[in-house]
Amino acid sequence: MQVLVIGAGVVGLAVARAAARKGHDVVVAEAANAIGTGISSRNSEVIHGGMYYPTGTLRGRHCVHGRRMLYEFCAAHGVPHRKCGKLIVATNEAEVEKIHAIEKQGQINGVEGLEMIGGHAARVMEPELFCIGALHSPETGIIDGHAYMLALHGDLEDLGGAIAFNTPVKSAVRKNGQWQVSFGGSGGEFAFDAVINCAGLGAQGVARAMPDYPAARVPRLVLGKGNYFSYAGKPVFSRLIYPTPIMGGLGVHVTLDLAGRMRFGPDVEWIEGENYDVDPTRAAAFYARIRTYWPGLPDGSLAPDYAGIRPKLTGPTEPQADFLIDTPAQHGLPGLVQLFGIESPGLTSSLSLGEEVAGYLKS
Ligand SMILES: Cc1cc2nc3c(=O)[nH]c(=O)nc-3n(C[C@H](O)[C@H](O)[C@H](O)COP(=O)(O)OP(=O)(O)OC[C@H]3O[C@@H](n4cnc5c(N)ncnc54)[C@H](O)[C@@H]3O)c2cc1C
Repeated sequence: MQVLVIGAGVVGLAVARAAARKGHDVVVAEAANAIGTGISSRNSEVIHGGMYYPTGTLRGRHCVHGRRMLYEFCAAHGVPHRKCGKLIVATNEAEVEKIHAIEKQGQINGVEGLEMIGGHAARVMEPELFCIGALHSPETGIIDGHAYMLALHGDLEDLGGAIAFNTPVKSAVRKNGQWQVSFGGSGGEFAFDAVINCAGLGAQGVARAMPDYPAARVPRLVLGKGNYFSYAGKPVFSRLIYPTPIMGGLGVHVTLDLAGRMRFGPDVEWIEGENYDVDPTRAAAFYARIRTYWPGLPDGSLAPDYAGIRPKLTGPTEPQADFLIDTPAQHGLPGLVQLFGIESPGLTSSLSLGEEVAGYLKS
């Protein structure tokens, strides 16, 4: 089949690679001038274990399966990564209950190696840490997200696929048993057997530009911004440290990058329009939250860093939505797959999502 994938973020690239591996002719249309300039370059670059997500959700299934696939992919393609492990910490009795619940959910989801440890054992692992108990996830890690996307792009090209940059999709109409797609830039119009919408924050807009796709099926887009602050000093932790989760996110956590730097975030800020400025006044809440598990955080050590935006489907007072994959079996239009709400753990899940979506490509 002639397959068009819309968006060259981590999900679009993984989907395109999986489709090309099945023998399809794949073109990726990307509005920007490079791969991974959207959500995929503004995240924590954590390979998640998969213990948070409710039973039976796409997020739970794809995170666990995708993580296993991702470690294998990284080893085979030389993508820099480190399985550094993570501690989810409890600083009071109520939080101990919460991390017990996360452990149980993780076991249901099939996450390997989870272990509850006491405050003393946690401090032996991370001497600067304050907590009364912690859940240790040895399978959690960090990855060079850009190197991963470059490797996906390389595989796609080796399989005969290509990316058209500066080529925004303007509309797609069903015509003579195919999808007639019109592109901005110098793109013109081309016909495809299948169209897969992986446009991240643009996915709802792309779906609305398909007159055959019922407008009522397009979910609302809620922007959940996540701000990060960098830490000026030498890292004091060797593992990722997470507090118990908050509404809309996993809580302001310690992230490490492969260069050995330590930063904090993301928080959750509900916004109306896309903007990536980090408001320095948010630092006060970061100091307060971080000091619950790292009392030694020095004054003046945090600086505004970067922000990313989660493409959420539900707002602050609603339960978190799952990934939404709308397939021909559900909406009835041949060859069309729409992906909405691919927020965290989309990076970890990408290879598994690619495998699932490529499975829907049938003529
Ligand atoms: C703050 C934050 C932290 C996160 N941390 C993690 C983490 O640690 N681990 C993890 O697993 N996940 C994490 N995630 C989630 C992960 O980053 C995303 O799920 C993933 O990057 C989504 O990739 P994507 O390809 O769907 O979107 P994107 O990377 O945004 O790609 C979509 C692409 O579509 C293009 N596009 C849009 N409209 C059009 C159009 N009309 N025509 C052509 N192209 C178009 C855009 O230019 C863009 O390049 C985090 C997310 C956020 C926001």
